[in-house]
Amino acid sequence: KPILLWLRRDLRLSDHPMLSAAASSGRPVVAVFVCDAVVSGYGAAPRWRLGEALRDFLPRLEALGCPVVLRRGPALETLKALIAEAGAGAVWWSRDLDPAAVARDSAIKAALKAGGVEARSFPGQILFPPWEVKTGQGGPYRVYTPFWKAVRGLPVAPPLAAVSQLRSGPALRGVALADLGLGQDMRRGAAVVAKYARIGEAAAQARLAAFFDGPVTHYKERRDFLAEAATSELSEHLAWGEISPAQIWHAGARALHDGAAGAETFLKELVWREFAWHLMFHFPDLGTKNWRADWDSFPWAGESAAAERWRRGMTGEPVVDAAMRELYVTGRMHNRARMIAASYLTKHLLTDWRIGLKWFEECLIDHDPAANAMGWQWVAGSGPDAAPYFRIFNPASQAEKFDPEGAYRRRWLAEGNRHAPETARDFFGAVPQSWALLPGAPAPPPLISLAEGRARALAAYAARESAK
Ligand code: FAD
Repeated sequence: KPILLWLRRDLRLSDHPMLSAAASSGRPVVAVFVCDAVVSGYGAAPRWRLGEALRDFLPRLEALGCPVVLRRGPALETLKALIAEAGAGAVWWSRDLDPAAVARDSAIKAALKAGGVEARSFPGQILFPPWEVKTGQGGPYRVYTPFWKAVRGLPVAPPLAAVSQLRSGPALRGVALADLGLGQDMRRGAAVVAKYARIGEAAAQARLAAFFDGPVTHYKERRDFLAEAATSELSEHLAWGEISPAQIWHAGARALHDGAAGAETFLKELVWREFAWHLMFHFPDLGTKNWRADWDSFPWAGESAAAERWRRGMTGEPVVDAAMRELYVTGRMHNRARMIAASYLTKHLLTDWRIGLKWFEECLIDHDPAANAMGWQWVAGSGPDAAPYFRIFNPASQAEKFDPEGAYRRRWLAEGNRHAPETARDFFGAVPQSWALLPGAPAPPPLISLAEGRARALAAYAARESAK
């Protein structure tokens, strides 16, 4: 009987445990992608990026002899219909630890098994399953450094070779990719983001090779500089499974073995991703609730005109505005810029971190529910192993330190400059007319002075401390 291979965030042929198992089983297969409530709940940019990942991946899968069918609808009902149409005896998938997916998948596994259908899930999204890594007391880790020490020596299976052939199951009728509902509703022109995105498994492998060919050596010293291409830029591929973390881990381990400076720092960053998933698995509310409940009484502001100015990159604080425009145009943002922009929103503008998290979720083509939630709670001070609240990033001195020539700010800000670079012009081309900001226009006035914003945040923090 055929196996339905349910595709999700695992759009690659190499190091793919489910596809390798399918190939060696010799059973006929049909690949399915279902746009259900979990997928249509993604933000606009990630949804578009997922559609592009599918556009690249599906023909490659078909070329191996695997028919592909796309459907829209509730996952369980859709799978049941497909099982009946294909005469399938099994549904296989790669695990996705997004809490929304975990809840859906465990219900589906139970329902399929109850109906006599084999339901099997495979690893591949992360290196170290959160249920296997435990502290001495048997609980989850809450602090990064001990987590790193616990996992760094654990074995990671060598990556599997790319699948080269699959046995074809029946061809089924579905919808076209364009009708899946992934790309069309992107509010800003997807065409602009498309110019900056790099899609697919081949692009991911090329990025991996390019990074270990050079930038890794200076990664430790250069990774924080905003205008430099000093990091791997693999996050958008990891988010959609166009590359596996094990492929990156082994490349890093080889570089470390060969004495590449920077390799250990890089592996540690990759383990921050693991830590985020570890936290998300054990604390599924990480993206919705203050991890430290004593933050619930903090007087964070909700939606406001200031928050809207932040989203539009019009706070009047140049490095923050540059970061927010980079996000809008490219669907990505430099890690240090993410920290600066998040700190400005939660501290200088005293705004609830969930408002920022939502906007990142809407705009990031590398959106990762765990890394995003951990990042926001870390910056806000409400999360596990977080930066203390009173440590407030000063955007101006951060810019001086990490964008000393101003190249990053010039790339994204066109105020007062009629000969704006293409990047800045892309921003003006992409934003809705109502945002009305044109190259050469005067810079927006600061929403609040840095000194005043800092003092206000510290006062709110002190009031909360004394009320405890
Ligand atoms: P590199 O520096 O080359 O690092 C290699 C890989 O390690 C990354 O691809 C990523 O998978 C992982 N990594 C690096 N830094 C972190 C980190 N701080 N936390 C978790 N994993 C990390 N990352 C996302 O992938 N998706 C998100 O939605 C996301 N949201 C964030 C929100 C905030 C507020 C902050 C502060 C950080 C967020 N990050 C997120 C983490 C980080 O900014 C990105 O992973 C990084 O910028 C990606 O660029 P890169 O691939 O060149 O990273």
